[in-house]
Parts: sequence; C-alpha cells; structure tokens
Amino acid sequence: MGKKIHTLIIGAGQAGLAASEHLSNHKIDHLILERHRMVESWRTSRWDSLVANGPAWHDKFPTLEFTDVNQDSFVSKDRVVEYFEEFAKKIKAPIIENINVFEVIKDSKDNFLIQTSDEEYEAKNVIAATGAFQVPVIPKIIPNHSNLEQLHSKFYKKPEQLKKGAVLVVGSGSSGSQIAEELNKANKKVYFSIGPHDRPPRKYRGKDNVWWLGVLGKWEAKTPKPGTQHVTIAVSGYDGGKTIDFRKFAHSGITLLGMTKKYENGKLYFSNDLKINIENGDKNYLDLLNEADEYIKKNNLSFPEEPEARNIIFEHSCITKPLLELNIEELDITSVIWATGYKHDFSWMKVDVIGDDGKPIHQNGIAKTPGIYFLGLPWLSMRGSSFIWGVWKDAKYVVEHIANR
Ligand SMILES: Cc1cc2nc3c(=O)[nH]c(=O)nc-3n(C[C@H](O)[C@H](O)[C@H](O)COP(=O)(O)OP(=O)(O)OC[C@H]3O[C@@H](n4cnc5c(N)ncnc54)[C@H](O)[C@@H]3O)c2cc1C
Repeated sequence: MGKKIHTLIIGAGQAGLAASEHLSNHKIDHLILERHRMVESWRTSRWDSLVANGPAWHDKFPTLEFTDVNQDSFVSKDRVVEYFEEFAKKIKAPIIENINVFEVIKDSKDNFLIQTSDEEYEAKNVIAATGAFQVPVIPKIIPNHSNLEQLHSKFYKKPEQLKKGAVLVVGSGSSGSQIAEELNKANKKVYFSIGPHDRPPRKYRGKDNVWWLGVLGKWEAKTPKPGTQHVTIAVSGYDGGKTIDFRKFAHSGITLLGMTKKYENGKLYFSNDLKINIENGDKNYLDLLNEADEYIKKNNLSFPEEPEARNIIFEHSCITKPLLELNIEELDITSVIWATGYKHDFSWMKVDVIGDDGKPIHQNGIAKTPGIYFLGLPWLSMRGSSFIWGVWKDAKYVVEHIANR
C-alpha cells in the first residue's frame, strides 16, 4: 500500500506550481514530486544569456509580479528561477525534490499507484506536469564525425564552450536565432540553416508582440492555422528585445542557408528553399502589422504611426544566390548546434491515455481515464498553453475539474 494523497503532481516546473496554487485554493490535499530541483529546466536546460521571450508584465502568473524590474524588460533566466522560487514559497508549495517517478498505473479501486525512486504513492488524481520540452530532437543527418562536435541547443551554454572554428546552427526558431546572433557577436563564423518560420514584430506602434497576440485573440486560439503546425516562431527578448530579421543577420556577417538536407563525404547539402522561407517569414510579419492596423482603426485608438516598420531591408546575396553545399573541412566548420526542438517522454505513464504517436490523449488537459490530467503541453487548450502566461489558466481549469470529481 502506497502513501495516500488526494492529488499528486509530477514535475515542479511552472505547470506543477500553477496547479499547486489552484489546488491549495480549493483546499485539496496534494504533493509535487520533482526528480531534480524545482524549475530545473529554467536552471540547467537553457543557455547562459537567455532572457524571457515576453516582457516582465506578461511572462508571469497573475498572482505574483516581478516587483524589482522594469515591467517592459525581458528578465534573465536566473531571475525567472528566483521568481518561481518566490512563488513556491508564497503558496507554500508541497514539493519533494529528487524523487523520480518511474511508473503510474491504475489500481483496482480506480485510484493510481505511483512508483518512485523513493516511496510508493496512491492517489485519486495525477497531474502530469513533466514538461513539453523534455527530450532533445536531433534529425539523423550527420553521422558521428570525429572533427565535428554536434550538440542540441539544450546543452549550449556560451560561445567559449565551442571548439575553435566555424559553427553551423540549424533551426530558425527563437533558440536558433538567438544562439546564431550570440555566436556571431562573439566573432565566430556562423552558418545558419533556416526553415519555415514566423517572425512577428517585437513591438509595433508602441505595443509589444505579446500584447498584440492578446488583443488579436491569437494567444487564446484553439488550434494552429492549417498548415502552420510545424512552423517555428522566431522572437527574442535578447538585447532589450528586437524584431528578428534574418536579412539583418546576413548583413552582419552570418551566412544564411536553406534547410539542412544531407551529409555526404565531408559535405553538407541544403535545400534551395531559403528565399521562400525568408519571404514567408516576411509575409507573416507584414500580416501581423496589417491586423494590428485594422485593430487600431476599428477601436479608434490613437497609437503612434510607424510606417518605417514596413521597410524590408535590402536583399543579401546569400539569400538571392544561396549556397547549397558546404565543405566542412575547407570552411573549418567544427561545431553544429541543433536548435531543432524537443519531444515528450511519457514512458512512465502506464495508464491507457497515450496514443500510438506517443502523445497524450486529452481534452483541454483532461484525459479519457478519469483522474489523469496533463499540463504544459503545446496547444493543450490554446496557443498560450505551454507558456508561463497560459499554463496558469489551464491549471485553473484542470483543478476545477478535480474539485468537482
Ligand atoms: C529555450 C526555451 C525558452 C523558453 N522561454 C520561454 C519564455 O520566455 N516564456 C514562456 O512563457 N515560456 C518559455 N518557454 C516555454 C516554457 O515556458 C518552458 O519550457 C517551461 O519550462 C515549461 O514549464 P513546465 O512546467 O511545463 O515544464 P518544465 O519546466 O520542463 O518542468 C517539468 C519538470 O518535471 C520534472 N520531471 C520530468 N519527468 C519527471 C519524472 N518522471 N518524475 C519527476 N519529475 C519529473 C522535470 O525535472 C522538470 O523540473 C521556453 C522554452 C524553451 C525550451
């Protein structure tokens, strides 16, 4: 017989903490089991210079402010950790650290048995808050190559960590673009492989991108627009926050390339899709400006005009005549950073709530087996679900369901 608890939360990241606050509000007995330390991902799975993607007034829970910072600034990852430590203290979150959950099974009484590296637990409800960005994904393109160090963005910390020589960064989302820029500033020769991406304006007519996403209903969108499921978003709070414009990257010395396709005999090959990817990124950027202008007009707002935001910087030859192959030795490329995303790992979940594709089966976080819940997954209930702002709302919804069981 395991130790009895009403609701067990697995994972003490922001999702687990948000759930804990709502459970306490409902006076529901609960525990959070965390295999490392609380908010471990923000501590150790990010590069040193990372700042939040949204300003301090936005990337937070509604029940705790960042009191000591400019509300429009982008706080450092270390400040995010402090924020959640303060939050955990404030809500008296019942976290037990250094306990790994190995298995969750259903017992005969419709409760769940939880095997851990410590005790066994028995719970009426289990909230899986183990994170969406768990297992780094590296496409199988380049075999192990003695002269080429390959690492995922999860393990990138700072430029000095890389070998001397040039670097290829693969993946043009927020991680890849921020890392490519940092390496270029550190005087590394950077080759940057760019796929389909959205690149919203950081700020437009006085308002930050996250504000526009809110008023235009995009944070709360229920599903991605058809065809955009795999489009990554390049947005950055780096350097005080600025719009990502890959043409500017090219003009600052970064060599842009299309999608990384294959490796053969010391050469890397790239798709001839750089121009179209850049153009589609521009379209996404300009569409958002148009929607913002329409919103301002419709609501009679007196926001400052910003016509210069529509000026697209002149083309660079690396975009009009992109390189389609690179010789690793000739160009002295010694490192590859794969900023190519993550996948889930629910191998410990032995209740029948995971589909054949490895993805949880749920509706807004509520699994088909009563008592199992998920939080923090992309598009769990809306676009904002995997972000600090959104997970708090999802946690409220899920906990209300628990309270009414
Ligand atoms: C590079 C990067 C930058 C990001 N920047 C932002 C940003 O600026 N703003 C924003 O809103 N969002 C951002 N996000 C998205 C999201 O906010 C973070 O990924 C956040 O860490 C997700 O929180 P979480 O609680 O869902 O998962 P996690 O923070 O990953 O927490 C899950 C916890 O579960 C624990 N765990 C996992 N498995 C087990 C197990 N079997 N037993 C016990 N414990 C377990 C882990 O150790 C971990 O501590 C970013 C994501 C990435 C990858």
